[in-house]
Amino acid sequence: MSDTRLRDATQHAEKLVRDEKLELPIDLIALAKSRDILVEAKAEGAKGVSGMLLRVGNNFSIGYATHIKSTGFQRFSIAHELGHYFLPGHPEHVFSGGNVVHESHAGFGSGDQVELEADHFAAGLLMPSYLFKAEAGKYSDGFTAIEKMAERCETSLTASAIRYAELTDAAIAVVISTGSSVNYCFASLAMRGIRGYKHPLKGSVLPRESLTRTFNQKESNIITAQREDDSTDLIAWFRADDEIDACEEVIGLGDYGKTLTIITADLPDQDEEVDDMTERPPRFK
Ligand SMILES: [Zn+2]
Repeated sequence: MSDTRLRDATQHAEKLVRDEKLELPIDLIALAKSRDILVEAKAEGAKGVSGMLLRVGNNFSIGYATHIKSTGFQRFSIAHELGHYFLPGHPEHVFSGGNVVHESHAGFGSGDQVELEADHFAAGLLMPSYLFKAEAGKYSDGFTAIEKMAERCETSLTASAIRYAELTDAAIAVVISTGSSVNYCFASLAMRGIRGYKHPLKGSVLPRESLTRTFNQKESNIITAQREDDSTDLIAWFRADDEIDACEEVIGLGDYGKTLTIITADLPDQDEEVDDMTERPPRFK
């Protein structure tokens, strides 16, 4: 598993956005059309397949799944397939041995390197860092910014939350869960830097007293996309060395059948901390 290749995949997409002078929300259909790629919605297909890339001779087409009725999910699926088209080596790989159809499992749940590269391409294409950061900076840290970015980029809350965690300076973690267990977790650099931080592994148990765990016990919370928040602390979630207050915001993901939790640490303002240090030059003259 290569992190460099994943980063390269994101950057490849961002370069494409720059070169083509695309703006938010990225028009995927127009991009596909510019390369003569046909994009079509598919009737309910095999469970778990998010989309497919087909090749006949030198003609490509994309089919995307519609069993999850979320524009964000469908756009991510299309962007993932575009990744298999644009990323160096991908067409050769997915169509090796005379294959004419590649079926995808988009959404960061796959352990397959090629699938993950296409996911990272999709994130970079739909949420290019330079456009994303400029926009996200307008909102307060945490769920508010994530929600606004999902609207702006026409992406799912989950994809926006993961991208936000990648790009923010704030200490936040994104946890996707089902029942009492963690499906996966993404944490920002600042969160991972907190003393004693332990990353929750796939399949680990949610903190016993957490709002998320209680929330998940009632299925209707997830199906009807209920939303709750509460205060928590980083010892409970990440076994941090020190007691650090945090906010836990929880939302049910509807059809997706999972729950999204955003943990935002309430760290002392870094500027204030620096103010205590005498060697710091005054910020304003
Ligand atoms: Zn794929």
